[in-house]
Amino acid sequence: MVFWEEEIETLPRTGIRGLQVSRMKAAINQARKAPFYQQLYEELDITPEKFNKVEDIRDFPFTTKEDLRTNFPYGFLAVDRKNVVRLHSSSGTTGNPTVVFHTRDDLDNWANLIARNLFMVGVRDTDVFQNICGYGLFTGGLGFQYGAEKLGALTVPAGAGNTKRQIKLICDYGTSAIHTIPSYVMRLVSEMESMGVSPRDTALRVMVIGAEPHTEEQRQRVEQSIGIKAFNSYGLSEMCGPGVAFECEYQSGLHIWEDSFLVEIIDPDTLQPVPEGETGELVLTTLNRQANPLIRYRTRDLTRAVPGDCRCGRTHMLLDRIHGRTDDMFIIRGCNVFPMQVEKVLLQFPEVDSHYVIHLETNEGVDQMIIDVEIKSDWFTDNYASLEHLQKRIARDVRDEVLVTPIVRLVEAGSMPASGGKAVRVVDNRESGRGN
Ligand code: AMP
Ligand code: ZN
Repeated sequence: MVFWEEEIETLPRTGIRGLQVSRMKAAINQARKAPFYQQLYEELDITPEKFNKVEDIRDFPFTTKEDLRTNFPYGFLAVDRKNVVRLHSSSGTTGNPTVVFHTRDDLDNWANLIARNLFMVGVRDTDVFQNICGYGLFTGGLGFQYGAEKLGALTVPAGAGNTKRQIKLICDYGTSAIHTIPSYVMRLVSEMESMGVSPRDTALRVMVIGAEPHTEEQRQRVEQSIGIKAFNSYGLSEMCGPGVAFECEYQSGLHIWEDSFLVEIIDPDTLQPVPEGETGELVLTTLNRQANPLIRYRTRDLTRAVPGDCRCGRTHMLLDRIHGRTDDMFIIRGCNVFPMQVEKVLLQFPEVDSHYVIHLETNEGVDQMIIDVEIKSDWFTDNYASLEHLQKRIARDVRDEVLVTPIVRLVEAGSMPASGGKAVRVVDNRESGRGN
């Protein structure tokens, strides 16, 4: 078995907890240098002396995305501005965006985490690693770029989109590893097919997919379409970006790196820890970030701790794939629905391609869920009766899952516009807004 950093990756649990306590004391001191925490912790008399065991974190207040927005842009900055070498920021189409700053050490630690993850799934310095995602303010581009370079791979900064060019790069340079968002893989594969390139004839041997929610069904489709394994990569800009948690070769959960993050899973209503193994909101604390430390940050992502030890020998906690976010659940006609529940049903139909959008609309005062879904070209016949039959079966299975009967509209594969970035799964145009 091979590790990037064996000692830290296989540290016994007691060692992890000890490391967390000592790093947490330093993190509290560091956080107190940021205007937001300085004021808050002075008011509440919070000092590093108050933190002596991991559970003491429960006495600390939470930090929310709203706090980041309200204190935009420098309220969370904990170092002198001359020591900041980069920022990343979320798009923020409404109100203030959120911004995260990095010192040189922050960037080094982040690159090291990505290298650790890539090594874990078998990427080596002999690989050609093509990074198919947006560069710029989005963290997936530069994050993976520097991580793969640190590992020593020949890194191709391909960026997002321009599928034909992506395929040419894969063929020209013998790309053996790629990173991209899951909703893009099927576009890549169908373009390969139309160009007469068989994915199995390329040098591709490992794939990393992340940055957006996806189901196990989607992963399996992606894996089968190229004939290689696809590993789930999770992260968020506020913690650094990708690299926070990653699947190992066993794909039975994502190891979240507890030398860098203190992990809690809470009930988003009561704000208390959930019983072990139950689903709740992931709350993370940065343990070694200098420029932008965050303590008890509510990620809004829903997951659960996977119990038991991992066969790979790594001791860091396993998280289940992200089921969704507290804020992407919508309520329609009194039923709570997560987009991933709908995806799971859709992808059980072999006729269904991987693109879909859920539209929420109000028609004559009644809220409706309309699902536009792409059907693979070879199934998309002009036999109206068979399409109608398929439509009904999909509607029925979605209703059984979410208790609301949708209107299903079938469209031919390739006819829905590709966004180029993270897929938009829900468009809510209801008169009542989000229905809650
Ligand atoms: P951003 O910081 O804008 O890149 O967005 C981070 C968010 O993307 C996370 O909080 C998650 O909601 C989502 N995300 C990132 N990676 C994954 C993943 N592997 N599975 C599901 N959701 C993810
Ligand atoms: Zn493992």
